[in-house]
Amino acid sequence: MSRILIVEDETHLAEGLRFNLEAEGHEAEVAETGEAALAAIARTVEQPFELIVLDVMLPEMDGFAVASALRHSQNFIPILMLTARARPEDVLMGLESGADDYLPKPFELAILLARIRGLLRRAQWMQTPRTPPNVFTFGNKRIDFDTQELFAGDRKMRLTTMETNLLRYFVQREGKVVSRKMMLDEVWEVREDTDTRAIDNFIARIRKLIEDEPGQPKHLLTVRGVGYRFLANPE
Ligand code: CA
Repeated sequence: MSRILIVEDETHLAEGLRFNLEAEGHEAEVAETGEAALAAIARTVEQPFELIVLDVMLPEMDGFAVASALRHSQNFIPILMLTARARPEDVLMGLESGADDYLPKPFELAILLARIRGLLRRAQWMQTPRTPPNVFTFGNKRIDFDTQELFAGDRKMRLTTMETNLLRYFVQREGKVVSRKMMLDEVWEVREDTDTRAIDNFIARIRKLIEDEPGQPKHLLTVRGVGYRFLANPE
């Protein structure tokens, strides 16, 4: 039972989503423009939405701009972005603008509902208090998985849920080779064939966060033709 904001200008699709989310027991609200979405979020700080289903193609302010605006204002609500096509550049732009997951249109309703369940489950899991603190230190960096923060020296950076999940995935497999397919299956929970360039671009983004010299990575290494390997303490 979660409060979900649907941002979609196609009324039939928006109302269909609302109907189905309510049938799943959620409380759903529709915003037809990016501006209306930001206003609805600003209006509901007391009882915030727990997830946003955000269409990219909106009149005037598009979904990328909405996601960026939220992240810039330190709002880290999970975002499931609906991209017009499965173009890798759309997917990449979505993830770069701060989306946690994406689904190309047209989509199967069952897949959308499964993705929403996955995002809500992960968000809830992130909030479950655990002791000792869920912190991992490597080099001059420290990740707090509970608060989704990365500390580099005295700099503190906020991580998106997807960045946090991916970093946790690597930390749990420290020293082991992780294939792109494994990452798609287990982190993005994508089963269908997806262009793996989106992953490489996402890795480049992670390197900017955790590497002193992103072009000369020491912690997150490329394993040619296979995938990646995370080393906490490189030689
Ligand atoms: Ca639209």
